[in-house]
Amino acid sequence: GKAQIGVTGLAVMGRNLARNLARNGFRVALHNRSQARTDALVAEFGSEGEFVPSTDLAGFVESLEQPRKVIIMVKAGAPTDAVIDELVPLLDEGDIVVDAGNAHFLDTRRRESALKEKGLHFVGSGVSGGEEGALNGPSIMPGGSKESYESLGPILTKISAHVNGEPCCVHVGPDGAGHFVKMLHNGIEYADMQLIAEAYDLLRHVLDLSPAELADVFRDWNTGDLESFLIEITAEVLSQTDPTTGGPFIDVVLDQAEQKGTGRWTVQSALDLGIPVSGMAEAVFARSLSGDVVRREAAAGVLPGPSEAKVDVDHKAFIEDVRHALYSSKIVAYAQGFDAIRAASDEYDWNIDLGAMAKIWRGGCIIRARFLDRVTEAYDRNPSLPSLLVDDYFKEAVASGQEAWRRVVATAATVGVPAPGFSAALSYYDGLRAERLPAALIQGLRDLFGAHTYKRVDREGSFHLEWSGDRSESTQ
Ligand code: NDP
Repeated sequence: GKAQIGVTGLAVMGRNLARNLARNGFRVALHNRSQARTDALVAEFGSEGEFVPSTDLAGFVESLEQPRKVIIMVKAGAPTDAVIDELVPLLDEGDIVVDAGNAHFLDTRRRESALKEKGLHFVGSGVSGGEEGALNGPSIMPGGSKESYESLGPILTKISAHVNGEPCCVHVGPDGAGHFVKMLHNGIEYADMQLIAEAYDLLRHVLDLSPAELADVFRDWNTGDLESFLIEITAEVLSQTDPTTGGPFIDVVLDQAEQKGTGRWTVQSALDLGIPVSGMAEAVFARSLSGDVVRREAAAGVLPGPSEAKVDVDHKAFIEDVRHALYSSKIVAYAQGFDAIRAASDEYDWNIDLGAMAKIWRGGCIIRARFLDRVTEAYDRNPSLPSLLVDDYFKEAVASGQEAWRRVVATAATVGVPAPGFSAALSYYDGLRAERLPAALIQGLRDLFGAHTYKRVDREGSFHLEWSGDRSESTQ
């Protein structure tokens, strides 16, 4: 018989997604530009379920039952457009095209509107969890029309990760909503990793602990509020020995972090939306700095650090302080991330349920964490919560750790260990809670040099001072 759904693009992600579908009882059409991947999948995993392989795209489309459901899992960017262009003339009205790659949400909006004109549904869907997730249950963030989700939803929820019996898949919103949320997920992942890296660096520097001892700290943290996949695998990486030297694995890894671009996209989009996402921005910048070999080589051992590179701290107390700094900074990063989702949702009329996003990230994806239940609860308590930071639970969590957080940022500055994530998060927190900001001075300066006007605290309207004249105030 005909296949219920098809996957074109059978590299690691597509292959595992196809296997996941087949293992869940769906008959899966297969296609890949170069046939070798299709053949390899059938040869190695053909026994896992029902596959219907095709050598060309026309045969692939022909092998699908109508309305057709086609998942594209190819390299993001121009390759995705190339596949869409080849696919569209072969499809019929009502067919559904899913792009499960990491597309930019603006590309998804463009593609969705182009395919809509042809009577086709285009669903940009975030898929998280890497190859492991794709095979065993990813977190899935589909956008596109409600109508397409009616037939797609039952399939996607079945193959997604599940937490407490609930699928980690929900219809995010129209057109680019799914890919936007997937992008934000990745941005948050950048921030999470940067904060963990800072915690590691500070503990190692200040306490002189070995990587193996630090692994135990993270293992312990993973039993509390910080419990998450990333903390768990941090312990695993830190306890690993290098097969060549027999020393700590972490010490033989080149300290230059790479990036594929979704973190950068997140920050760029947030800049356009006017939402401060300093946690994610610092994470992207920290990776860029790490890879900036030319400047690092010019400065290392040349630029002087503090005269006091050591501080006297109680080991246990400092570890607990760093735990608080990590948790509070993480809360800030998530608060900023959810603000960005809300802003985009307003801008593009997506009507995204923020609590539901936290819920579908609880399993199958890299940022899965106990913490996300708290986020869902916060938005359940108040769907129009202005910031996660003012929710009672998070307010208390930060309040109880803020003295520790401040000590950690101060210690980092004293010993000269970079902690851009911790300190930017603390500055954001202090900025948010300030009753009066120095923005007043900025407005004064703008009015002086550019007559940009200012508003007053005591009267409505815009004003300008005659700076070069009699300094009288005029209404603008
Ligand atoms: P790659 O991103 O490495 O892409 C390889 C696939 O794209 C191959 O099937 C290749 O076909 C196909 N392809 C490339 N160019 C073209 C083209 N012009 N026309 C047709 N097919 C083309 O594969 P991944 O599996 O790593 O990722 C797939 C998508 O999933 C990407 O968008 C990626 O960003 C996203 N993603 C990846 C994750 C990961 O952990 N890897 C996690 C989450 C999302 P051929 O075999 O013929 O070369």
